[in-house]
Amino acid sequence: MGNNERTETKKFSGRRKVKPKSIAVVNERCTGCGGSPVCKIYCPVDNCIAAIPAQEYPLTRVRMDPLKCIGCKRCIAHGPGGLLLEGCPWDAIMMIPTPQWEKRNHPLPY
Ligand code: SF4
Ligand code: SF4
Repeated sequence: MGNNERTETKKFSGRRKVKPKSIAVVNERCTGCGGSPVCKIYCPVDNCIAAIPAQEYPLTRVRMDPLKCIGCKRCIAHGPGGLLLEGCPWDAIMMIPTPQWEKRNHPLPY
């Protein structure tokens, strides 16, 4: 079994229990990975990262659900020495502290 298959079969689909310390946000460097988003494969939460329909993306190609993100940082994971292992290859994801995210957007219920 390939690594991608293994991670795809273990997605968390329940409601998160606590508000995370930080929330993943995509930036304008997102390319959509040619239609197969790497971040979506490695995110452990079901439907947390969604592809944006073509007519909606002037700058980014995916969107993170702030109500589902658990702040695990797997979508930005790098190995020792900065080697890319499983995160976004384009540095297109930023982890925003949750209080900062809420100040910019709206309070999160959990
Ligand atoms: S955020 Fe990064 S890994 Fe995810 S689709 Fe965009 S470029 Fe690809
Ligand atoms: S921080 Fe974790 S839960 Fe949030 S989008 Fe990245 S991989 Fe998914």
